[in-house]
Amino acid sequence: MLAKELVLKQRTTILHALCSSGSTEHLERILDILLAQGGLTWEDYQNIQVLGRALYANARQLLDLVYTKGEDTCELFLAALKLVLPEEQAAVLSFSESCSNLEDKDEYQSTSHHTLLTQRPSLVYKLQGCIDGALETLLDLGHFSSSDCEEVRLPIYTPTQQARRLLDQVRSKGDSVATVLLQYIHQKQEPGSAFNQSNLTPPKEVLKYQKKLSSSVSAQACFLSTYGGTSHMPLEDIYIDGQLELAEDSVNAQGPLGLEDIVGLAGIVNKEADTVIVSGEAGSGKSTLLQRLHLLWAQGAALRDFLLLFPFSCRRLNSEHNELSVQELLFQHCCWPDREQAEIFQFILDHPHLILFTFDGLDELKQSFSDEQRICCPTQRAPVHILLFNLIQGSLMKGVQKVVTSRSEAVSPLLKKHLRKEVVLKGFSPNGIDCFVKKHHRDPTVAAKVLESLQANTALLGLCHSPVLCWIVSQCHKELLGCGEGSPKTITDVYLMILQHFLQHQSPLRSTMGSGWLQEHLKTVLLLGQLAFEGITTTCYIFSGTDLEACGVTEKDICMVFLTKSKDMSSTHSKCYEFLHMTMQCFFAALFIVLSSNTNRSVIPKLFELENMREAGLSSVCFRACLPSSDQQQQALEKETKAAETPNLQITAMFVSGLLSQRHQKLWLHCCPSAVVEKKARQVARCLSKGMQKHFRSIPQPVQGEKKSMHAMPDFVWLIKCLYEMQESRIAKDAMSKLEVDHLKLTYCNIGPVECTALAYVLQHLRNPVGLQLDNNSVGDVGVEQLLPCMHICSSLYLRNNNITDEGVHKLIAKSIQCDSFQKIALFNNKLTDACMQNFSHLLKTKQDFLSLRLGNNNITAEGAKQLAEGLKANHSLKYLGLWGNKIGDEGAEALANGLESNSSLVWLSLVGNGVGSAGACALANIIRDNTSLEELWLTENCITKMGVECLIEALKHNRHVTSIWLRNNALSLEEVEEMKQRESRLIF
Ligand code: ADP
Repeated sequence: MLAKELVLKQRTTILHALCSSGSTEHLERILDILLAQGGLTWEDYQNIQVLGRALYANARQLLDLVYTKGEDTCELFLAALKLVLPEEQAAVLSFSESCSNLEDKDEYQSTSHHTLLTQRPSLVYKLQGCIDGALETLLDLGHFSSSDCEEVRLPIYTPTQQARRLLDQVRSKGDSVATVLLQYIHQKQEPGSAFNQSNLTPPKEVLKYQKKLSSSVSAQACFLSTYGGTSHMPLEDIYIDGQLELAEDSVNAQGPLGLEDIVGLAGIVNKEADTVIVSGEAGSGKSTLLQRLHLLWAQGAALRDFLLLFPFSCRRLNSEHNELSVQELLFQHCCWPDREQAEIFQFILDHPHLILFTFDGLDELKQSFSDEQRICCPTQRAPVHILLFNLIQGSLMKGVQKVVTSRSEAVSPLLKKHLRKEVVLKGFSPNGIDCFVKKHHRDPTVAAKVLESLQANTALLGLCHSPVLCWIVSQCHKELLGCGEGSPKTITDVYLMILQHFLQHQSPLRSTMGSGWLQEHLKTVLLLGQLAFEGITTTCYIFSGTDLEACGVTEKDICMVFLTKSKDMSSTHSKCYEFLHMTMQCFFAALFIVLSSNTNRSVIPKLFELENMREAGLSSVCFRACLPSSDQQQQALEKETKAAETPNLQITAMFVSGLLSQRHQKLWLHCCPSAVVEKKARQVARCLSKGMQKHFRSIPQPVQGEKKSMHAMPDFVWLIKCLYEMQESRIAKDAMSKLEVDHLKLTYCNIGPVECTALAYVLQHLRNPVGLQLDNNSVGDVGVEQLLPCMHICSSLYLRNNNITDEGVHKLIAKSIQCDSFQKIALFNNKLTDACMQNFSHLLKTKQDFLSLRLGNNNITAEGAKQLAEGLKANHSLKYLGLWGNKIGDEGAEALANGLESNSSLVWLSLVGNGVGSAGACALANIIRDNTSLEELWLTENCITKMGVECLIEALKHNRHVTSIWLRNNALSLEEVEEMKQRESRLIF
């Protein structure tokens, strides 16, 4: 049905929905939206919003007008209605199928006056809580009289109405006043201003509540859970800053982010959204980072703009089976106000900008994010996940900032649409590992020994970038220092080390030799394994006493430290347990799959196909609460939980690969029949090979003349990691033998040192050399070192934007000089300085078949250019040299020109943005004169004057090979440009 018809037919119902509560809020919000979207003009608005006229009359006026304006406006109106009305009211209305999409209008409008209209909905909420301040500013500047102010402040108005009246007044006073107000609002959005400068004195009950909340947050946040069973370690004593980066790489130029930047202005991609995601791998420290933020807030040391902070754990929200309203969610799950609940909640509603919500582990929520079911009313009850999704997308509690952590895989494109920004936590930096080990081991000699052994085992050092593995390695330092030859290499090795560590902790008198330790504790391992496995297959991470009992887990098993008491802000789940870390649960689930004779034969294939594991598991004896009651419900839940399970299934599969490796088979000797273990190992090898084939088959045939190229899908890296865990070169070789590509693209794949180790291990078995493209990952120097074993099969290596320093380059070049196929390298946007130019010079001197060197956007100066020039002098093969965005200046350009004097191979040279002046241009002109290979010279964004260009023109008279010299944005006047264009068409300005 057409929107117009719908408006007419449903007139009575719409009027009722808009007016029956007696509040003008719904109507006014709809007017805001229609104004912003251009559905109504300002004059229309004034005709409808007649102050003092009955609400019903205003609403009727709106309906009449919308109807006469036609189909488009009716559609907009219905879309606004759908957005604004509480769900139960919207449910009784029909909306047109093509219900308009209420996208935000362009942020920047031609005039401030116009911006007041187009941004009206968001300005209304931004103004709440700072109306007094805005009025004072306008009064001080003489734009408002005190009677203007009084009109806005009329006590009958709610905060949103005051905001609208203020906007209306400002609009009537013209563009300059609108500019003042917009600037004021903008300043208020800056960090460090909202609460402290707003001179707001919250009511006494709110302040009391704030105190109670902050002491409860502080109590929750002061100890780290992984230390719960081992020692009570205050967070403050062990916390090390992780590496935080913006997900949008274009804005990363601002350097590393600090904790406060998470809620700050840096890197905002959608100003209207309130939700920031901190994403990262399992164990990268997301929960700990939130814990740190909570503690700093409770201590008043950070996030001081927020009066109230409400921390939630999605893991715990899973066990909330009742429908709740937002108020109940806040008070029941975080902190119960002793008195005046209604007043406190009203304060929260009225001052959204003073409130912060945090949600830890969105990926652990049973349901994956969806924005289908909308609710806007904070008093409406709904299942907790629906509340959470509405909070995230801002239809509930708009204006309240939300920080959500999640594993990267779980950040879906749909979720991204609702994000203010995404910040990626990339674990510890090399220096961070050092600090962590020193903090963990107060005895400096022990710390020094641990660090020394890490330096000697770079695969293990690579793993330590993940904080959880760094913790395990530090925890097991005795085993690590004593193990010599067989020191851990894979993630499975590290987890086996901690398993042994804690099990032997229980019986310190036993020998640490042999595999007897596992046999002795097999029962416990199997019980915990079953608990973990069933938990993974039912998305259950918190276990009640009944769950434990049902699996037969006893007090003794609990004391083994792998389980820790679950922390909870509310007191309802007093005796619940969870695994020390999610990855530990996956590890136990994998142990169960390997050791149990009870599991179904299809468990391993299903695991690797990432299929729903529920029916592959056991007939569940526990977690009744986690399991749905009817078939229909079960199907719905299965669909919803699929996404949440996948990352854990992947980690579990990785551990299964590692545990079934030949290297560990002696461990299982006395625990289960060898034939069974071998069979399972064969199953895994088959699954990995099958998985790889599936990827290879998806590679499209190359277009004629182009190379065959494969862009890795996310699961590819996971399969590679499983192959690495297996440590069986025969299987890796077999899997790789069928890959036939010239170029392997793994950009934006979260590749860190750990993944580099696995990649090199597997890719070294490729039959033909490939171009390996790893742009925009976090390879770093340690990762570069891990890649060395596969350098011989690399024809080119692309490592743009990967945090690589001179140290990494030093090792990389030393190796690549020995690799015959290696011909191209791209290191754009890393941290290179002059100190590594000697290495490139050496590379050029040694490899007379090297083709392309791209070093843009680093810190190379004239000194570096001089060293590179030495290499160029001796090289006869290089075709492409890119130094865009360095600082070589005239001196560097002269040195390069000198180095290229007798060169006859270079085809393309870029010195864009290098502070090159006319002296540099003249030096380059000298080589152009007689050069027979150069085709393109890029000199854009330098400071070349007419004199320099004259030299280039003169040189071009003698050269027919050069096709273009790019000279945009240099020190030339328009007339000069015009004149020189006429004289030489190959100059491009
Ligand atoms: P995630 O939430 O990303 O899975 P966690 O925050 O649970 O990771 O971290 C796992 C463990 O790693 C923690 O229990 C702690 O031992 C260690 N850890 C993580 N981040 C830090 C940090 N910034 N400083 C010190 N230790 C950390």
